Amino acid sequence: MAQYDVIVIGAGPGGYVSAIRCAQLGLKTACVEGRETLGGTCLNVGCIPSKALLHASHQLHEAEHNFAKMGLKGKAPSVDFKQMLAYKDDVIGQNTKGIEFLFKKNKVDWIKGWASIPEAGKVKVGDEVYEAKNIIIASGSEPAPVPGADVTVDEKIVVTSTGALELPKVPKKLVVIGAGVIGLEMGSVYARLGAEVEVIEFLDAITPGMDSEVQRAFQKLLTKQGLKFTMGAAVQKVETKGGKATVTYKLRKDDSEHTTDADVVLCATGRRPFVDGLGLEALGVEMTPRGQIKTDDHWKTNVPGIYAIGDAIEGPMLAHKAEDEGMAAAEVIAGKHGHVNYDVIPGVIYTHPEVATVGKTEDQLKEAGVAYKVGKFSFMGNGRAKAVFAGDGFVKLLVDKETDRILGCHIIGPAAGDLIHEICVGMEFGASAEDIALTCHAHPTFSEAVREAALACGDGAIHA
Ligand code: FAD
Repeated sequence: MAQYDVIVIGAGPGGYVSAIRCAQLGLKTACVEGRETLGGTCLNVGCIPSKALLHASHQLHEAEHNFAKMGLKGKAPSVDFKQMLAYKDDVIGQNTKGIEFLFKKNKVDWIKGWASIPEAGKVKVGDEVYEAKNIIIASGSEPAPVPGADVTVDEKIVVTSTGALELPKVPKKLVVIGAGVIGLEMGSVYARLGAEVEVIEFLDAITPGMDSEVQRAFQKLLTKQGLKFTMGAAVQKVETKGGKATVTYKLRKDDSEHTTDADVVLCATGRRPFVDGLGLEALGVEMTPRGQIKTDDHWKTNVPGIYAIGDAIEGPMLAHKAEDEGMAAAEVIAGKHGHVNYDVIPGVIYTHPEVATVGKTEDQLKEAGVAYKVGKFSFMGNGRAKAVFAGDGFVKLLVDKETDRILGCHIIGPAAGDLIHEICVGMEFGASAEDIALTCHAHPTFSEAVREAALACGDGAIHA
């Protein structure tokens, strides 16, 4: 019977990163993956393919809307959607192969197949049983059904994000159920490719949990780009007939019932932990009421020797959160001090403009009764942004009124997903807005807008 110090179950960003770190720390490590390829949801049907399609469709948008303004004339490119999907698949392939290479380089054994845990210290894959001093469950998540509605996903007409990444052609009309990150990213892709896109959302604001000023600005910009929003609407059912779908919803304000037709309906109301087949119930592994594996702050479950990380446990379902937990759990197993600062986990939406957020929102600070200052700067005052038709949006910095310490940052604008990390590092070091304001920022860069927002927390921005 093969013996390991650690067996990681699942090779998504949580699992593969954890396995590599375990091996780097001198632990004999294997990683079990049921999919044909490594990389989990993120590389195969999540972050990476969606960003490839966002990139390609954004290039089309630039060609259609901005090239002529810069004197680049000629016919706008036509869309060969099959080729676009082939490009996306190539990007996936390069990335998943990259993980294979890293496993070999770090001497992580890849065990192919679906794993179960017959007892603590043992992992079963097919007929093979492996011994492991420690087991890390990184089994990830799957799309959740639309709550309270009669919806059958066929991944052709009624799809999850997985089907939305593989449509045979650009639909004429796409209805997206749920105005969260995944729905808005995929909605943007198809709107840019020419689909009529209607987003149906139960709440009164898009991207739940985000700073409400950002929510409003973001919805306005997406509406300008052609996305239609039906807010405060509870989807009742989706029916399919003759290759088309009809979505029935009730408006919460007056309970009135409405229908809308679609060629494709994307169900994007969230994801839930995937723990099927692991045998957790028989093992007595404690779960949360929301079906997540319960862990302590060292990612230990209540069963000795079994850890859990990533989408399968509590917290934001984000690849970088899973990765950080993966590294930290490996360090704990190796006798080191693994740590994740859950107060500084950025969230990014990769639409155009991008949206990025870290720390507290203004609404949260108000609710907690914290005295704060706001420093805001519009990208209209940023020379670089204006030069590239990206003046929409702003940087909003929230700092403690007394100490000037950064409490949160919310950016909607060009490269927001990269700009936010200056603030993440600042927050990790307990920086004040003045620390950012006194740091020389290269000109002309988008990052000057972050500095200007920091200046606005003090004596004032220069270009406002
Ligand atoms: P997963 O990536 O889900 O990986 C789990 C793996 O475990 C899977 O490959 C599964 O096959 C395997 N597995 C499960 N059970 C077993 C078993 N019993 N035996 C063997 N193998 C098993 N996050 C971001 O941070 N940024 C983004 O831009 C982003 N975009 C996204 C876009 C889409 C369309 C989707 C769906 C998700 C996106 N996410 C994004 C979320 C991100 O993909 C997840 O948070 C991340 O993949 C979670 O990592 P994980 O390792 O916990 O699980």
